[in-house]
Amino acid sequence: MNKRLIYQIIGAFVLAIVAGLIFGEQIEVVQPLGDLFLRLIQFIIVPLILATIIVGVTSTGDIKRLGRLGGKTVSFYLITSFFAITFGLLAGFVFQPGTGLDVSIEEESVAPTETEGVVQTLLNIIPTNPIESLATGNVLQIIFFAVFIGIGITIVGDKAKPVQNFFDGLAEVMYKITSIIMLLVPIGIFGLLAPIVGQYGISVLLPLIKVIIAMLVACIIHVAILYSIALKSFGKMSPIRFFKGIFPAAAVAFTTSSSSGTLPVTMKSTQENLNVSKETSSFVLPLGATINMDGTALYQGLAVVFIAQYFGVDLTFTQLLTVALVGTLASIGAAGVPGAGMVMLMMVLTAINLPLEGVALVAGIDRILDMMRTSVNVMGDATASIIVDTSEKKRENQVEEAV
Ligand code: ASP
Repeated sequence: MNKRLIYQIIGAFVLAIVAGLIFGEQIEVVQPLGDLFLRLIQFIIVPLILATIIVGVTSTGDIKRLGRLGGKTVSFYLITSFFAITFGLLAGFVFQPGTGLDVSIEEESVAPTETEGVVQTLLNIIPTNPIESLATGNVLQIIFFAVFIGIGITIVGDKAKPVQNFFDGLAEVMYKITSIIMLLVPIGIFGLLAPIVGQYGISVLLPLIKVIIAMLVACIIHVAILYSIALKSFGKMSPIRFFKGIFPAAAVAFTTSSSSGTLPVTMKSTQENLNVSKETSSFVLPLGATINMDGTALYQGLAVVFIAQYFGVDLTFTQLLTVALVGTLASIGAAGVPGAGMVMLMMVLTAINLPLEGVALVAGIDRILDMMRTSVNVMGDATASIIVDTSEKKRENQVEEAV
């Protein structure tokens, strides 16, 4: 594993915080460095997802294996999301961040956003024009399209070999480009983080410090306890090794607040540092970056309790169940881009009749919460890829032994 990169990232973090605190909002001049990095990782996402998912599906070799892989992945995603939302709710009850709070709500800061119904959201996954999905970067539609192309290639067999080889090659090229861009990770982190520190300073954070602490504690519990147990028992991997290996991706997620944007780095870290096979990671990770968001689910739980406390509403058991259900859907529906979780929070608040103005309460510090939840989102995807990969390898060994 590249130790130098880890030290450089830590150095960039420290430098960004110090520079942000010293120069305040003036540090914004370094923002272009961050934007440069962001654009570089964003430009590879669409071809990367398309090529790797097609390769992921075709390399499973048969539809049955694909179904098994999909089943395992989605089950793991759903179970961990449910735990996440529960930890979020519990953190809200333990830390009581909304009681005795007096912050003025700036209603203008929340633009009313229409959230679509569940049925329409599901239908929208099917692209009517896949080229348009690629052009607009609609990740869920690209995944749908890529899975189908992969299935098609598998069924057609020999005649489709050139198509398969093309996407194989494209995936390799994308991995290579990722390696080159990774050299810029420390610079990108500095350019993105320093302006955030400079802009927020201590004064913005202080009134809502309890929410931030509650979120931090819940995230740490989710990652350090749930993922560690899952990794040790189902992934046969020491959690320390996992955290070291996934660190570059978690750091990029933290600073960019975008799990889709972090995807190239997540793939690289899991394949090279954590030994996850390309077949598994190229299927599990792009899917996870789009539908598996434990950090976002956790945030929904915590934010609901916080807002209810602020408005003096006692949540009933039915309301809590609704939050668990709708919050999980909201985390699945949220795109892997900055601020998506906060927009989805409106859906959850509407489902249990809490005032939408509550969103304005958290809006001021959402970026900070977003950084934490995005890191958890990415670590959750990586955990899933290790566990699914271990179970697939075990199965292959068993099959080989039986032959
Ligand atoms: N920013 C998060 C992500 O990209 C989504 C969210 O806002 O919760 O994973």
